[in-house]
Amino acid sequence: MKDYLQKAYCMNQTCRIYAAITTHLSQEAQKIHHLWPTSAAALSRTLTISAIMSCTYKSQERLTIKITGDGPVCPITVEASDGAVRGYVHNPGVFLTYSKGGIAVKEGVGNSGMIEVIKDLHMRIPFSSSAPLKSGEIAEDFTYYFALSEQIPSSVGLGEKFDREGNLIASGGFLLQVMPGCSEEHIARLEKKLASLKSCAEMIEQGYTPEDIIDEITDGDYQILETKELNYFCPCSRNRFEKGLLSLGKQELLQILKEDHKASLTCQFCNKTYEFDEKDLQKLIDSFPKSTK
Ligand code: ZN
Repeated sequence: MKDYLQKAYCMNQTCRIYAAITTHLSQEAQKIHHLWPTSAAALSRTLTISAIMSCTYKSQERLTIKITGDGPVCPITVEASDGAVRGYVHNPGVFLTYSKGGIAVKEGVGNSGMIEVIKDLHMRIPFSSSAPLKSGEIAEDFTYYFALSEQIPSSVGLGEKFDREGNLIASGGFLLQVMPGCSEEHIARLEKKLASLKSCAEMIEQGYTPEDIIDEITDGDYQILETKELNYFCPCSRNRFEKGLLSLGKQELLQILKEDHKASLTCQFCNKTYEFDEKDLQKLIDSFPKSTK
């Protein structure tokens, strides 16, 4: 089954809930970046919340999330647009566990640092907002981010499951947002429910679907509005890297040609390498107007 998200209304249409299963895109990330469990869990959680957030926008806006905690995994960089995500971490080889068992995401991310969210709304200047990290568990950090930076009372749950070899075998999460007009009674009901709710990690471990997660949180009182496919997708291309090389300027390219005779550029998001040999570099140099230095 493919990864997907479901969006629903609950509490008399005064709350929105998004629930997603992201197993395949998290596995793709683990495979591409050779992630050890703590790094894989941290990136999976960030990819999941970014996939969900990208589905909260009306148009196809591009979202960039940077988490700069003081733990060894960070920084974590993720991009998302309309359910397509890509990302990478500073250190893919982190595997920390708690003495009582379980993967120590908090220790990997750290609890001193920032979450920065940059939204490219296709206007001249991207919109940026940030919040300090609260716990390093990522779900709690985003709950705090929504309250502080977007002034939306929210609850975020994120979780994943690994097999004995450290391979991620399930992941997902939810975002619950209270909209203006939600009654005190409904808010009290939600708070009570959230306090007694099983953790998102448990739901993921038990093989919940997005509908099951929504059903669990709302006690069956919801209307599904939309279903959206999610995937790991990197739109990089040789053309984009050519533009990157051109932006270095003619002098810099001449120097690369003279000293290295080639340029080998790797995409950080998908690990694909683009090679530019002497002939390619010369062609780029020749594309500058003759008068350019
Ligand atoms: Zn790429």
